[in-house]
Amino acid sequence: MKGTLIVLEGIDGSGKSTQYRRLCQHMTALGKPFHSVVFPRYDQDSSALVRLYLSGAFGTKPDDVNAYAASAFYAVDRFASYRLDWKPAYEAGGLILADRYTTSNACHQGSKLPDSELPAYFDWLYDFEYHRLELPRPDLVLYLDVELDVALAQMAERRRAGGGTGDIHEKDAAYLGQCLRAGRRAAAHYGWTRIACLRDGKMRDIEDIHEEIFSHVLLATGA
Ligand code: ADP
Repeated sequence: MKGTLIVLEGIDGSGKSTQYRRLCQHMTALGKPFHSVVFPRYDQDSSALVRLYLSGAFGTKPDDVNAYAASAFYAVDRFASYRLDWKPAYEAGGLILADRYTTSNACHQGSKLPDSELPAYFDWLYDFEYHRLELPRPDLVLYLDVELDVALAQMAERRRAGGGTGDIHEKDAAYLGQCLRAGRRAAAHYGWTRIACLRDGKMRDIEDIHEEIFSHVLLATGA
C-alpha cells in the first residue's frame, strides 16, 4: 500500500509558502487528514550541509557548489525526513502534503546548468532520489509559475515584512532568473501541473490561486 504525495513547487517569491499554508488550513478546516512536510528542514541535523552551503561556507555564490554536490546535500535531508518522520504515514496509505521536494533540486540546482545539460541532470536526479535513495515519487507536483519581476517584488515584500533568510540563493536576482528557466524546463520534462499565477501580467489573488490548487488536490486524492 502506498499513500498519496502532493508537492507544491515554485521559485523563491512564487508564493509557495503562502499557498502551502492556505492548502493545509483548508484541508484542516474540512477535517481531511494529512501529514505535512516542509523542506529543507533547517532545524534538523540532517540539513547540516544545506545550512553550511546556504550560509556561504563553501563560497558566497550558488555556483561555488556544483548542481550535483548541492543536490546531494538536500537529498540526504529528504532521506532522513522520510525514514524518521513520514514513512509510516505514507505506507499506511496517508496523504502527504509537501512544501518543496526533490523538485526543488530540479529548479535550484538545475539553474546552474545550461539547457543542453538539463535533461541528463533531471534524469540523474530522478534516478538518485527516487531509485537509489528509494524516496517516494510524487503523485502530483503543482508548479507555481510566475515571472521574474513579480517573484523579486514578492521577495522584497516578504523581507520588508520581516521574513526570508537572505541566504546565498536569495541574494542573487540573476540566480533567481536561472531558477525560473530551470523550473519551466523541469515542469515540461517531468510533466508537472502548471499553475499560472499571473493574469494580465499581475499576480492573481491568493484565494483565486488556492481554489485552482485545491481542485487539483481533490482530484488527486479522489475526494
Ligand atoms: P515563496 O515561499 O515562494 O518564496 P511566499 O509564499 O513566502 O513565497 O510569498 C512571498 C511574498 O509574497 C509574501 O510576502 C506573501 O505574502 C506574498 N504573496 C504570496 N502570494 C501572493 C499573491 N497571490 N498575491 C500577493 N502577494 C502574495
